[in-house]
Amino acid sequence: GAKNLGKNSYHVFTREMDDRVNRRMQLERDMRQGLKRDEFMVYYQPKIDLANKKISGMEALVRWVRLDGTVVSPMDFIPLAEENGLIIDIGARVLDKACAFLRILDEGPHAGLNVAVNLSPEQFRQEDLVEMVRRTLDIHDLSPDRLDLEITESTIMRDIDDTVYKLNQLVAMGIRISIDDFGTGYSSMYYLKKFPIDTLKIDRSFVRDICEDPNDANIVQTITVMADNLGIKVVAEGVETVEQQELLTSFGCQQVQGFLFSPPLPAPGFEEYLTGFETRSGEG
Ligand code: C2E
Ligand code: MG
Ligand code: MG
Ligand code: MG
Repeated sequence: GAKNLGKNSYHVFTREMDDRVNRRMQLERDMRQGLKRDEFMVYYQPKIDLANKKISGMEALVRWVRLDGTVVSPMDFIPLAEENGLIIDIGARVLDKACAFLRILDEGPHAGLNVAVNLSPEQFRQEDLVEMVRRTLDIHDLSPDRLDLEITESTIMRDIDDTVYKLNQLVAMGIRISIDDFGTGYSSMYYLKKFPIDTLKIDRSFVRDICEDPNDANIVQTITVMADNLGIKVVAEGVETVEQQELLTSFGCQQVQGFLFSPPLPAPGFEEYLTGFETRSGEG
């Protein structure tokens, strides 16, 4: 009766927990091996400047390409990597690869682009974060003004004083800071005057429905106007339609990123995209 049921459900519960723990441990082992085998790849998504119809730069987005060819999305391993600390190595690897790619592009017809790299809040707990970034730029002989670092509001709010201290050091080097997923965090906007922010990236969740939802349209327009008044640039994330693009332009939002232009692409595909974009805009 009821007694048995209770006992059984207890067993089911622990078995499920065991499974979950085992899966996590396996995933962690695989990630360590993936790092050794250099399975963490960087894809690139262009940032388009609508005002002059140019590609202003690109965002580096990590992918875990496993031995069998499966491409694992960052959503499926970054949270675990943040818990077990592997994000420190993965993050350093992404920055290194993005800088190496920039140098390759500099040798060809697409020289002079900027690259944006996402930083996890966990990387700000790393004592030598600023040194790591400086060292990587040095190794690739890149000027710091070629690099944007994307952080979220929650990164700043976690340990404001320490994070702002590190951000100020990065900004002093000449690196630009973007606030990613802007509008989704517990933002007091207090930090907007704590250090020079270069760009606000309006989160995709506000952009998605701008053509149908007047509230979202209002939010996006208000952010754009506010940023403009503060001398901060704006990028709209997740632009998928021409209608969204046109509305964003009418709001004064000049920079966009989204599937309308290109999904994130592996390095060779991204180079092809650059070439095609120039050809197309040359015709237009
Ligand atoms: P994010 O930095 O906000 O990156 C934007 C995400 O939106 C990317 O997902 C991109 O593929 C996706 N996206 C871009 N345009 C569109 C669009 O038009 N429609 C839709 N539906 N999606 C679009 P992705 O690459 O899966 O990355 C997800 C998140 O994982 C990133 O969000 C970022 O927070 C994190 N991430 C990615 N790479 C790294 C990394 O190297 N380090 C760290 N710490 N986090 C990373
Ligand atoms: Mg980002
Ligand atoms: Mg974002
Ligand atoms: Mg996002």
